[in-house]
Amino acid sequence: MRYLILSDIHANREALSAVLARVRRKRWDKAVFLGDLVGYGAHPNQTVEMVRALKPLVAIRGNHDKVCSGVEDGEMFNRVALQAAQWTRTRLTQQNLRWLYQLPEGPAIVDDAFAIAHGTPIDEDAYIFGEIEALNVFRQTTFPLCFFGHSHFPVVFGLSPEAIHTVLTTSPTFRFRLEPGMRYLINPGSIGQPRDGSPLASFAIFDSQSRTVSINRVAYAVDRAQKRILDAGLPRPLADRLALGR
Ligand code: ZN
Repeated sequence: MRYLILSDIHANREALSAVLARVRRKRWDKAVFLGDLVGYGAHPNQTVEMVRALKPLVAIRGNHDKVCSGVEDGEMFNRVALQAAQWTRTRLTQQNLRWLYQLPEGPAIVDDAFAIAHGTPIDEDAYIFGEIEALNVFRQTTFPLCFFGHSHFPVVFGLSPEAIHTVLTTSPTFRFRLEPGMRYLINPGSIGQPRDGSPLASFAIFDSQSRTVSINRVAYAVDRAQKRILDAGLPRPLADRLALGR
């Protein structure tokens, strides 16, 4: 099976379109979404509909999906994130809002092959930034392989019986093979708001047969996404950061 792994789209239609155009020529069997479909960007309905159209699809919710659809009120959000979530809630159609609202909490197990989580498999809203958090998750779980999102930073944490390793990915394509006896926590990066210093949209493909993962970066019309954010009256920092990848 070839799994298309998508995370943190954040209503960025331009970025999602570029990713889907890229994978149209590649074969994939199942789409897997790690949460945060909306919030920040200017096209919540279009991006929800694009992801809903992917079949077959396994999807879990992110913290922004919860606040934008009314599962939570966003009291933990900063001012900019909350403003964007409130704007998003007024724009979503009833159908899309309901679809987001019913997205399940992670972790989920996909085909007995791997786990997925938004933040971590222990707490959907917690972050894995570095080895300390990764080690903590490895200790409290037994998954050999888990894909996660939320930090918007593409990275691979590998745990051997002796040590934990961090592998930073390289652009535009980073391909590696999972080694037997190792456990992995892998972030495919963010499609709609990358934060690793590169503005390129980021996604992964996992081939469960060859046990290889590739993390791929795709250029898209950042200026158009920025213009849509400003035209919508969303906070300017949300437009500015897309060009910086921060
Ligand atoms: Zn996010």
